[in-house]
Amino acid sequence: MEAPRDPDDPIVAVATASGRGAVGIVRLSGQRMAGFAGSLCGQPLAPRHATLCTIADATGATIDRGLAIFFPAPHSYTGEDVLELQAHGGPVVLQMLVARCLSLAAEPDSSHRPRLPRLRLAAPGEFTERAWLNDKLDLAQAEAVADLIDAGTEQAARSATRSLEGALSHEADAIAEALVELRVLVEATLDFPEEEVEFLERAAALPRLEALRTRLDTLLGSAKQGALLRDGIRVVLAGQPNVGKSSLFNALVGSELAIVTPVPGTTRDRIGETISIDGVPVRAVDTAGLRDASDDPVERIGIERSWAALADADVIVWVRDLTRAADPAHAEADAGIAARIAGAGAAQRVLVVFNKVDAVDLADSSVDSGDALRVSATTGAGLDAVRRALLARAGWQAHGDGVFTARARHVDALRRARAHVGDAIGRCAAGDAALELVAEELRQAHDALGEITGRYTPDDLLGAIFSRFCIGK
Ligand code: GDP
Repeated sequence: MEAPRDPDDPIVAVATASGRGAVGIVRLSGQRMAGFAGSLCGQPLAPRHATLCTIADATGATIDRGLAIFFPAPHSYTGEDVLELQAHGGPVVLQMLVARCLSLAAEPDSSHRPRLPRLRLAAPGEFTERAWLNDKLDLAQAEAVADLIDAGTEQAARSATRSLEGALSHEADAIAEALVELRVLVEATLDFPEEEVEFLERAAALPRLEALRTRLDTLLGSAKQGALLRDGIRVVLAGQPNVGKSSLFNALVGSELAIVTPVPGTTRDRIGETISIDGVPVRAVDTAGLRDASDDPVERIGIERSWAALADADVIVWVRDLTRAADPAHAEADAGIAARIAGAGAAQRVLVVFNKVDAVDLADSSVDSGDALRVSATTGAGLDAVRRALLARAGWQAHGDGVFTARARHVDALRRARAHVGDAIGRCAAGDAALELVAEELRQAHDALGEITGRYTPDDLLGAIFSRFCIGK
């Protein structure tokens, strides 16, 4: 079991990525660390100045020579005293520096007391958690730090920066403030029950609530886009064997990852690759061809896995073969797939794509694909339309500027806030006198909004958020 970690303990960790690099950083954070920092670096450190110093082990032998920067509280990343040591970026030397920090912390000073009792290794995300605890950033911004580090595309990185700058938090806070005003109004009215209707009318409570709902709708729409950008879109290519799923997959991801052969049933397992379409991370998964009668037990398992993959896809690209559109057996098998997709409630998520348009005569009336997309994995014709349709089917509407990253929990909190405001509007509009219930709806809406920036987040949720950070962040 994980040891309970005291937020007052000083902490230390390697802050740069593991592996070798020109420079590596060891970071410490804690209260009243100036003395310790001076002992470690062999000289007092001027605040926020890069000081060239030598760090030695307990025997006096040099571990490394590098730069030390001391950021006194509260002007630091965590809001506590922070020391950053920029050393040579090798994993061994950085670990030796961390070990030296820990051993020096335990060493007694002139008054026989340890220099920095309780210095310990930082848990993942603990520096950022402290920044949050010390009001350096709010919870949505702290999450944006992790999103920026994890960003898989330039668009995702820019959007995470916007969240870090407060694009989500500021609007959530502004809406919360407007809610507070209304709550105050309603709570005050509760004290004067005989006047409540006129009171609310005079204060234009209803139009103000409606304006609030509109703002929540707008923010919710943006947050949904931001969550798509952060989490990416999971796309599964499915269809009968030999329709060209693997070829289309390769054409979309731009490499020869999946095996393409004229022999049906070659793709037996799922192959996945993340690509960027308009900056949105799209995880494309190729699957084993869907057919009923396979004698091969390995292929049968593959087919079952295909269906399982379809269940949690955001978009299912159902690849069909134009060259066999007129073949009754093929059409029957496609009808079976359509029925199973509909049965699984997945019809909304399906994008039908007819492949091999290069090999058919479109003037031939038997080649009827309705208004479905027609592509050729071989020539690349129609691929851009497939990419655009994929994004649209997943609900992506945003374009570049103004998008900020968000998480499913933000979307969920906004949905709840919006629902409570909607219920409050319903009660006000109905003119029923249950003003306590309106007050309660507004309180719940306020709580839900507070979860976004972390004002009312239960501790277990906090643990879950910060534990997904890397060490040293
Ligand atoms: P899968 O079993 O559905 O993954 O299909 P494959 O990608 O392995 O392709 C099956 C066969 O169809 C191979 O011989 C491919 O070369 C051929 N094929 C795939 N896409 C196209 C296309 O757009 N046009 C033509 N003419 N042939 C294609």
